[in-house]
Amino acid sequence: MTAVPQTVRKHTLASQMLWPEDATHTIESVDLEPDVPAAIEPLVPRLRELAALGDALRSLQAIDGSMLLPDTARALAADSGQILRELADAEPVGVESAEIMRLRADALAQGTASEDAARREAALAEPQPLTVFCGPMMSWRAKSQAPLHTVVTATSHAAGDRLIADLDASLEEAMSAVREQLGLPELGAHALLPMHITDLIASGGEASSFPKHFAYFLPVDEAILDGDPALRKTILFRNVYDLRYERMSSRLAETLLEGPQLREEVPAIAPLLGWLRAHDIAHGLTLPGDEHEHVAGVGPEPAMSLHEVIANVYGLMLAVTPPWLELQGAEASDVAAVYLAEMLQYMRRGPARWGDAGAAYMELNFLERNGFVDIDELGRVRWETSALLEGTAAHARVLADAIIAGDETRVVASFLDEYAWGEDTGAARTADSLMRRLASVPTALAYR
Ligand SMILES: [Zn+2]
Repeated sequence: MTAVPQTVRKHTLASQMLWPEDATHTIESVDLEPDVPAAIEPLVPRLRELAALGDALRSLQAIDGSMLLPDTARALAADSGQILRELADAEPVGVESAEIMRLRADALAQGTASEDAARREAALAEPQPLTVFCGPMMSWRAKSQAPLHTVVTATSHAAGDRLIADLDASLEEAMSAVREQLGLPELGAHALLPMHITDLIASGGEASSFPKHFAYFLPVDEAILDGDPALRKTILFRNVYDLRYERMSSRLAETLLEGPQLREEVPAIAPLLGWLRAHDIAHGLTLPGDEHEHVAGVGPEPAMSLHEVIANVYGLMLAVTPPWLELQGAEASDVAAVYLAEMLQYMRRGPARWGDAGAAYMELNFLERNGFVDIDELGRVRWETSALLEGTAAHARVLADAIIAGDETRVVASFLDEYAWGEDTGAARTADSLMRRLASVPTALAYR
């Protein structure tokens, strides 16, 4: 473990919570409009009832997870268990999925969580026609510190799953392109973890309180923290991700980005999924000598921010490689436009207050300070594709030396000093515009 200089520990960000305690939201109400296969359609009314029961159960729950009216809660849990058993018996539900639903029903009846169900859900490697979470789940850190009652019902989205499978199949080719471009022949990636693309049909309880997830990470979000790293998976809601882009990110981009636009013939979901899968993979990039203790030395929140910067920057590099662009049906300018719009959406949460927002700030700050984008007095970002990608590659090289393959906390700390802080930067003007001038753009979506 590298010695931690005192000055590093004192950085303000180190003591901040992931989600600010005084978070406020501008909420817009949307229709989820899930693509529901014909075989699942007859189950939808029961799924909605299960979600409504979830809201009722969660409303009886104190913040530590205890039930305020135990008898009423038991009755609601019994009704929920009954629906779960019916769903388990329904035709399209797979054998293992059905077993997991029954385990969840048993646990509900006992007022407990089924650890077995959580582990088996995470281990289920194939996309499922119907996924149902019904029981205690963790939500955003600092929003719920104990697992709280949650209902999530989702159906697999075949086209999304196909895109992820195709991207994964050409990962080696894409990685070769990145290695060559950066002159990093030893850049590697950990084994791929499953990412299942679904459409959210209905959600209730903690899953429906703000802020809301557009993806769940298993088994961690079911409060299993010691899970085998090889059995982790992500369940992402395609329709929520799409709506979030349309109602939030793209509106921020309209005002604050001056550059190429996502072309009309490219559905946003393709580059969104392409970049996110790349981001996910980039979290597991390796170079010889990387132990990462030197990064942890700057404190948990800045370290988390830096890992997000790496995932974002290398994610963009991967997403714009020729094989991946072809699979997304996109050009580099489309992916870059989506990437920047998403960067704004993360940054508006407040760079000094939240890890992901700090990461977005660092990326924009690096680009502007090194002349790859221009930011005017109102925080509007003027950009063009080749300079943005050149800047991203330059950033990736710096991150490789200082962070991924580095071994000195001092170097990581000076990188943070250079790019993570400061209110007198172009990126700070963008953050200011996001938080003050664009407050009417929703920060969260409610589902009708
Ligand atoms: Zn990430």
